[in-house]
Amino acid sequence: MSLFRQTAHELHGLLMKKEISSYELVQSIYERIDQVEEKIHAFTFQIEKDQALARAREVDARITRGERLPSLAGIPMALKDNMCTKGIPTTCSSKILDRFVPPYDATVARKLREADSILVGKLNMDEFAMGSSTENSAFFPTKNPWNLDCVPGGSSGGAAAAVAADEVIFSLGSDTGGSIRQPASFCGVVGLKPTYGSVSRYGLIAYASSLDQIGPVTKDVTDCAWVLNGIAGYDGKDSTSAEVAVPDYRECLTGEVRGMKIGIPKEYFGEGLQAEVKNAVLDAVHKLADLGAEVEEVSLPHTEYALPAYYLVASAEASSNLARYDGVRYGHRAREMQDIVSMFKRTRDEGFGAEVKRRIMLGTYALSSGYYDAYYLKALKVRTLVKQDFDRAFEKFDVLISPTAPTVAFQCGEKANDPLAMYLSDVCTIPINLAGIPAISLPCGFSHGLPVGLQMMGKAFGEEAILRAAFAYEQSAGSNNLKPNLSGEVA
Ligand code: GLN
Repeated sequence: MSLFRQTAHELHGLLMKKEISSYELVQSIYERIDQVEEKIHAFTFQIEKDQALARAREVDARITRGERLPSLAGIPMALKDNMCTKGIPTTCSSKILDRFVPPYDATVARKLREADSILVGKLNMDEFAMGSSTENSAFFPTKNPWNLDCVPGGSSGGAAAAVAADEVIFSLGSDTGGSIRQPASFCGVVGLKPTYGSVSRYGLIAYASSLDQIGPVTKDVTDCAWVLNGIAGYDGKDSTSAEVAVPDYRECLTGEVRGMKIGIPKEYFGEGLQAEVKNAVLDAVHKLADLGAEVEEVSLPHTEYALPAYYLVASAEASSNLARYDGVRYGHRAREMQDIVSMFKRTRDEGFGAEVKRRIMLGTYALSSGYYDAYYLKALKVRTLVKQDFDRAFEKFDVLISPTAPTVAFQCGEKANDPLAMYLSDVCTIPINLAGIPAISLPCGFSHGLPVGLQMMGKAFGEEAILRAAFAYEQSAGSNNLKPNLSGEVA
């Protein structure tokens, strides 16, 4: 099998046994990128091949010397383009940050570099992570490898599509309201949004700071645990980072779920859910019950208020976070303006896309005097109610299961002019961000040739429970050997 097809944990074994070299692996990845990238458009920036190969050679030399290397050493990966990378352009897929080159690394980028992973590029996204289809990128849309007429989901569409198309072995995305899980679901890969505070946000360009989290996008659950091991942990540079001990997440991959209590929140199976998505998810639940899990229905009564509350909180925080783009400190600046106020205005008008402007206006309105109590404060109260629903559920259950998204990937352009329809595609993922808890999306079947995603949610810092259940399901479902058929490829 071609090297680019394999998982990080398989490749690690081959590297350590010296059956392959990182040099060959990186070669294979660049060949793959050459073969399929013109169809997928996952990358906003690619590292020069020679540079990546030089890094691979260093790793190989250390393996030859018999050094014990970290699990992700020599493995090619890429980062969503909202994570700062020293000396490498970081654009948030926005014109306003075009040509911005950060002088420092995000903590996750530093950790992966120190773990000797090999960065091959930066990945396309909805501008400033606002969107659900990657069509809001200011540069170009990314395509779904399973069907090039469909969106890959968003906002981490590049991160999910690159992994699904085997252009990288794994990637990192960010998730504010579903942006790791929904594209993972649409592209048939595994995506995890960790507990708020468990992965450092230092160097992640802020969208909505109280909701944003970085997490892994991988080919299987084992890789997800491996990558999470590589990026989780306290960071003094992020004031919201939690001082909680990080377990070895690989240890919960036992395949054992006997006695585990699984709740099925009924509000997630209502209106708007495609029948085949529902059936695929319920089939997966039956499999877990056959394996010995105890399954029961549960109610999270405030679910319907999560979406409107999210769009107020997220937009409010975005309007504040994005105020820094004024043409003075970063990226784009409008030229030849008479005075500074017109320079600010024109810079933002030229630099931000329509969706970003919509969020800034909505957020500024929600925070303005006279409306603050009616909108922003009310949304915060709803957020607490949503969190309390989960707190109650997790007194009884270890894991909750729902679809990741109500539908499979939709057609390009289908929702581009209907923001509300677009917002609804995150209805199952948003409550998790409001509550700050972890959730994973993993493939659980197909509908009309497109992957269906299953979401498992856990209590805060309960990543082990969801990884355990996800791994057991993945094992029982049989390894998903199905790959998108990108014609002209070698198997
Ligand atoms: N689609 C949601 C939004 O546009 C979520 C985005 C995200 O998770 N970054 O806000």
